[in-house]
Amino acid sequence: MTDNSNHIAHAANFIRSRNLEFVLADNPKSICPHCHQVLELFETTEPGCVSRERILPVENSVNESTGAFIYDDGDMIPLDKESAFAPIDRFDRELSQGTCPSCDGLYCTVFLHVSSRPIRTEVNRQGEPFFFVDSEISFEGYRNVFSPVLKGEIPFSIPWIVVRHNNAHLDFDPDLSLCIIDEHIIGPFPLTVQENLAEEIGVAACMGALDRFRKNIWLAAEDIVLAAGPFAMKLIETDTADLSNTKI
Ligand SMILES: [Zn+2]
Repeated sequence: MTDNSNHIAHAANFIRSRNLEFVLADNPKSICPHCHQVLELFETTEPGCVSRERILPVENSVNESTGAFIYDDGDMIPLDKESAFAPIDRFDRELSQGTCPSCDGLYCTVFLHVSSRPIRTEVNRQGEPFFFVDSEISFEGYRNVFSPVLKGEIPFSIPWIVVRHNNAHLDFDPDLSLCIIDEHIIGPFPLTVQENLAEEIGVAACMGALDRFRKNIWLAAEDIVLAAGPFAMKLIETDTADLSNTKI
């Protein structure tokens, strides 16, 4: 049986060891790692649905034909070394699991959110600050989409799309000054049935730690965050420096 955590860990090593740049991308797409169908994100207003708005710049961003979400649930990725590269009030990360509407294959994706300025944080039950994972983010205004390339514009083989929301606001943040949020979508990576991250309570990192296969996936996801985090911070630091006084 394939251990997909090795696959994800390999991706982390690849990211870490390369000299990456980000370029504006025309129309990147998330692809199912099993059947290679395009995974289209859409939003819903269904009562009780906790899925957040996530829109990729696909030709038809509303995929009403399947009526299925491409991500079912997610949880914050446990991380010990986050302050090494990112201020806690500007950075958040999540591992989401989904089921392909076309082939029923399981996959997981690492989402990183990085903000251009500190955001007032809340604290969860464990006393850890968080601000993106369990919050409503409203995105207005225009957005840009980036793809990473190796220096010299050689195509980069790890699935990684960056959606930059140029005028974002979080529901509990009283600061109304300009806030740019980069949403890094790293994945999807395939999961086997044995690696299914969903528990009775949904996707939960603390429960996943009790099972060898799931634990390896969570550790590999942490590795992706540690590898990609510095690139994510560099992107928003260098690219938005001139925008801080710009009204969008
Ligand atoms: Zn599929």
